[in-house]
Amino acid sequence: MTDKQEIASPTDSELPDLVVVGAGLFGLTIAQQAAENDHTVRVIDARPHIGGNAYSYFDKQTGIEIHQYGAHLFHTSDERVWAYANRFTRFTGYVHHVYATHDGEVYPLPVNLGTINQFFHAHYSPAQAAELIKKQSQEGAGEQGAEPKNLEEQGIRLIGRPLFEAFVKNYTAKQWQTDTKDLPASIIRRLPVRLTYDNRYFSDTHEGLPADGYTAWMARMIDDPKICLTLGADFFDTTQPWNKQALVGRVPVVYTGPVDRYFDYSLGQLTWRTVEFTEHRYHEQDHFGTAVMNFVDADVPYTRSIEFKNFNPERKKIAQEPETVVWDEYSRFAGKEDEPYYPVNTPDDKRLFARYTDLEKDEPRVVFGGRLGNYAYLNMDQTIASALDTFTDCVLPLL
Ligand code: FAD
Ligand code: UDP
Repeated sequence: MTDKQEIASPTDSELPDLVVVGAGLFGLTIAQQAAENDHTVRVIDARPHIGGNAYSYFDKQTGIEIHQYGAHLFHTSDERVWAYANRFTRFTGYVHHVYATHDGEVYPLPVNLGTINQFFHAHYSPAQAAELIKKQSQEGAGEQGAEPKNLEEQGIRLIGRPLFEAFVKNYTAKQWQTDTKDLPASIIRRLPVRLTYDNRYFSDTHEGLPADGYTAWMARMIDDPKICLTLGADFFDTTQPWNKQALVGRVPVVYTGPVDRYFDYSLGQLTWRTVEFTEHRYHEQDHFGTAVMNFVDADVPYTRSIEFKNFNPERKKIAQEPETVVWDEYSRFAGKEDEPYYPVNTPDDKRLFARYTDLEKDEPRVVFGGRLGNYAYLNMDQTIASALDTFTDCVLPLL
């Protein structure tokens, strides 16, 4: 860019009260709240659709709902978030279960009494299984009484070394390509371990999938004349009017893209994982008999397979058709051109992120949020909760 006049820019009269960069759940919640408080909003997204990573579409050939950026299951114990989400969609009664193929056998996950007894060819009671895990977690689980320092210590503490090596070590190596000693314990803290035969994947009070799909849910959130949407607009592209140079300082901005990108990677790049999918179509009514099959051994290069139609058994006609779509999920480090999906969060990343947070303070009327802006793994319910709080605490005072 050589000439300042080349930067496209909205006129003062075209400026809304608030610009939101990113039409994911964070940005849409902020926009919805602003409109509800009688403010005008412009939401932009670089992608050609709303919804961020929770976006889904209906496959033309089969009618199956495909979650384009990986399987998304809504679950929450936060009553405020549940009530908020229910304003815009009804949820199905879907309850998530995951199975894992290990050494030629299929086991239920998360690790529960069924997994333990199948693995050890035993019939342990809950107390016996607890005793066994205690014994098997004596080495490698870190200092007793202290917080586990990393994912490995956390994993061994939760399920003992043999189960950790069977179900976590290789899967995690495929998913993160980072030593389990350098990964934060928090990655698997959210996986429950149960000494009963209950193999619900989540333990939250509420769970389900949006009855008419994710995108319909999120479209209803911004169905308000005070909200304007511009898709296919990158905030850093100065040839389109809703760009950083034209807006920052003139109007409050909520930015939900990657924080290091915002500062042009001036302090360095945060590390992210990205995922890729390969699609298979089978002329079968049901390929796996479940929606998610994890492959926890090193010899299968992908982490898991998703059979989308099994998320929606209530769509009976589609469920009975002799066609199914399966996506195998591969994980790798993200380059600058890739979609950043999972923050790796090594100690170096944490230090770098803290330095970016210092830079944020000097940005006039810019609020950073969402999983990319906060460099944090946030589930959808946490994203909504964080957006509702951010709106009240940081955005509303700017409007
Ligand atoms: P995003 O959804 O990433 O939205 C950010 C938006 O900003 C994107 O649309 C992006 O295009 C846009 N953007 C970025 N940069 C720019 C720019 N320069 N200009 C314009 N637009 C820009 N959560 C659950 O609760 N349950 C699950 O089962 C679940 N599964 C997941 C599976 C995967 C593979 C992943 C990656 C995440 C999963 N999540 C799940 C988390 C969920 O996706 C997030 O909580 C949610 O998407 C966060 O919303 P967000 O708005 O912060 O970010
Ligand atoms: N995990 C594992 N084996 C499994 C499933 C999960 O080791 O079969 C670990 C892995 O480190 C993963 C983390 O648990 O990154 C969280 O898994 P979850 O399925 O909750 O996360 P998702 O990848 O769906 O975000």
